[in-house]
Amino acid sequence: MSQYYTARKTTRLYSPHSRTPFAVSRSKIDLFIECPRCFYMDRRLGVGRPPGFPFSLNSAVDTLLKKEFDIHRAAQSQHPLLATYGLDAVPFAHVMMDEWRENFKGIRYHHEPTQFIVTGAVDDIWINPAKELIVVDYKSTAKEAEVTLDAPWQIGYKRQMEVYQWLLRRSGFTVSATGYFVYVNGRTDLAAFDGKLEFRVKLIPYMGDDGWIEKTLKEMKVCLDADALPSPGDECDYCAYRKASGEVLSEMTGRSVGGESPSLSALSALAHAPAKAARAAKGTLAKKSAKKGSTEKTGDAQPSLFG
Ligand code: SF4
Repeated sequence: MSQYYTARKTTRLYSPHSRTPFAVSRSKIDLFIECPRCFYMDRRLGVGRPPGFPFSLNSAVDTLLKKEFDIHRAAQSQHPLLATYGLDAVPFAHVMMDEWRENFKGIRYHHEPTQFIVTGAVDDIWINPAKELIVVDYKSTAKEAEVTLDAPWQIGYKRQMEVYQWLLRRSGFTVSATGYFVYVNGRTDLAAFDGKLEFRVKLIPYMGDDGWIEKTLKEMKVCLDADALPSPGDECDYCAYRKASGEVLSEMTGRSVGGESPSLSALSALAHAPAKAARAAKGTLAKKSAKKGSTEKTGDAQPSLFG
């Protein structure tokens, strides 16, 4: 197993009986919206999705943008990009700024109705003459088409900005409804690489609406408090992969040991099928276990989830 991934975590999981506030990051809110079941598996049962590879080039761009805007933060001067777009604002100077931008720290707010500590690490914050904070997010890509926020999958970017706006408002600041994406697009139309990447930089405004967040946090709390697996997402590539790999492994294992090995598709069903099918799968496993006199655990470690 990769040193970067623990398939079954046992610490920092949600317990319905705990009175300690529970940390919920902006990305976990997004995970819940995408699929409550995956969220529950991750935060309550300790089985999270494997992480992707780090986007090193994107991180490098973020780091350089931060350095660049920090120069203007120190001088309280307008960045040329903002001048180009006619935006009267300067980078916000605040003693917490570095912490607010740091992963695993970020802006933190204790949401008392749910006892969640909601966190989110912002890329940047600017301030306008009306003393409103402006949330800023850096994005980098490389494509021939003009960058926009119009693709359906970019809803996650918009929610991300809305969570940051909500966190700052809850922390007592006046926040502009309009945030900005500093979107940099790597050029592939040049004659050669010559040891450097060049980018077109675009400032894209977005009018945020954080009205969905309170309701979502309460739904997340209900989800985590329940002793039943929530429904899976409707269209999920991860689920399709898990189902297909379970089926293939089941077929292969069945062949190699004469069809008597534990049914991996049944195990997969325990984790993923709707509750009724999962109960049936559990029954099949129990029968197999009894027949073989086996004491091995086959997913019964969470009986209340299926009971
Ligand atoms: S549908 Fe299944 S794999 Fe996909 S996100 Fe939900 S629980 Fe995870």
